[in-house]
Amino acid sequence: MTDVLLKTSKLENYLNGDWVEGEKSTPVINPATGETVVEVPLSDAATVNEAVNVAKKAQKEWALVPAPQRAEVLYRVGNIMKERKERLSKLLTMENGKVLEEARGEVQEGIDMAFYMAGEGRRLFGQTTPAELKDKFAMSVRSPIGVVGIITPWNFPIAIATWKSFPAIVAGNAVIWKPATETPIMAYELAKIFEEAGLPKGVLNVVFGSGSTVGDAMVHHDDIRVISFTGSNETGRHIAGECGRQLKKVSLEMGGKNAVIVMDDADLNLAVEGILWSAFGTSGQRCTACSRVIVHEDVKERLEERLLVEMEKLTIGNGLDESIKVGPIINKAGLDKIKNYIEIGKNEGAKLLAGGYELTDGDLSNGHYFAPTLFTDATADMRIAQEEIFGPVVSLIPVKSFEEAIEVNNGVTYGLSSSIFTNDANRVFKAQRDLDTGIVYVNAGTTGAEIHLPFGGSKGTGNGHRDSGVQALDVFTEWKAVYVDFSGKLQRAQIDVDE
Ligand code: NAP
Repeated sequence: MTDVLLKTSKLENYLNGDWVEGEKSTPVINPATGETVVEVPLSDAATVNEAVNVAKKAQKEWALVPAPQRAEVLYRVGNIMKERKERLSKLLTMENGKVLEEARGEVQEGIDMAFYMAGEGRRLFGQTTPAELKDKFAMSVRSPIGVVGIITPWNFPIAIATWKSFPAIVAGNAVIWKPATETPIMAYELAKIFEEAGLPKGVLNVVFGSGSTVGDAMVHHDDIRVISFTGSNETGRHIAGECGRQLKKVSLEMGGKNAVIVMDDADLNLAVEGILWSAFGTSGQRCTACSRVIVHEDVKERLEERLLVEMEKLTIGNGLDESIKVGPIINKAGLDKIKNYIEIGKNEGAKLLAGGYELTDGDLSNGHYFAPTLFTDATADMRIAQEEIFGPVVSLIPVKSFEEAIEVNNGVTYGLSSSIFTNDANRVFKAQRDLDTGIVYVNAGTTGAEIHLPFGGSKGTGNGHRDSGVQALDVFTEWKAVYVDFSGKLQRAQIDVDE
């Protein structure tokens, strides 16, 4: 079934400014209804080769376009996205399942990124610095890298792509983008927008297909010099190994096991709101989702009571219905993983206070829905408190002190996001210093990143790079040091220095 919003029953690859049909395809399923939204091509390695060949040619020209002019394309992209925000948001809900309010937020993130990165077209700052010798000038400048590969996950089908492709393009690279097969519609729509905005042919190429075929071909292509990946740790580690062997630059943003800390002096109502939004928003399928609540034992019972009351009010169903707060799980595999963790949690001895089951009443039986779930009396070493579940499941871990809370927060292999609810200024400053995650929130949940700040995590979440923020430019540029000697003679650094 083709939706009226999409106006096509089959997506096509975007290669050198042309729309090219794939030989094989697979259906894109709306996780809320089980209906087929559209067919997406399953391309092969030959299509990746073709894309790289045209991208290489296009990049040479694109790199010579002054950056402020490159940025003009992004301003136009931002404006078109703004005009289409509602349509894009609905399509996003249909392919991914997140509720419309959140889909609008995600599209807005892309719009913000367009204008922010367009602004970088007039900055892309380098540095000038004194040279150590007379009549010599020294500076460092950013250079584009060439053809870059972008591999994105299903849970943020447009925002993450804009965090990567916009800095890459404004910096003068050409892009090959492989979106997740589960959610390809936003890639198709964004490519159409770039086309309308006048991006020269071949600067952005979208190749649909599986990770094991298209993604793998990108990772191993000699002429793709950077891979920017967001997805699971398993895939990220594999890609990092392959890139390492080829000395290829790789930026990884992977999973999280994010915690909200609730101290004994916290505003509990605010904490409850923050936990609900970050644990059950997007049905817990955010890399920054809160899946642990580290709570001071003196307020544990009160927090549990209030959470249970508010969880009862969460409406679950198709996210296109504005009254719905929690949408479906992306697919059956995701649902089965969550169910498995419920059994693990029970067997480990955590106490199930709410949820813990699949929802199949009425229309819900057509999609994959899971009840918002609360475990309590979990311990920091349990698997449900250590491993990424990627569903609407949160585990309360009681602690006796601020110091213990920090230790528990940091006692996982991941390091993406953390949050603390407290009204004690000393604790606020100690927490922002001692929490070992890439993102720290004070008196807010674990989600809600703004695009002009660096996004990413420490430890097992990433490999030191950042998406979004000005830092994203570091992934897609090389630093070049330039020395200009205007003395008219050969001066030797470190040697011809007056004593
Ligand atoms: P995934 O299974 O690792 O897939 C991510 C992308 O990699 C998809 O496009 C996938 O393609 C592709 N891929 C799979 N195998 C590949 C291979 N061998 N070579 C190259 N590409 C390959 O992850 P996901 O399930 O889509 O996403 C959920 C995960 O992403 C969670 O762990 C979440 O925490 C993480 N995430 C992290 C961030 C962050 O910024 N830290 C943000 C969002 C999500 P196909 O699926 O089409 O096969």
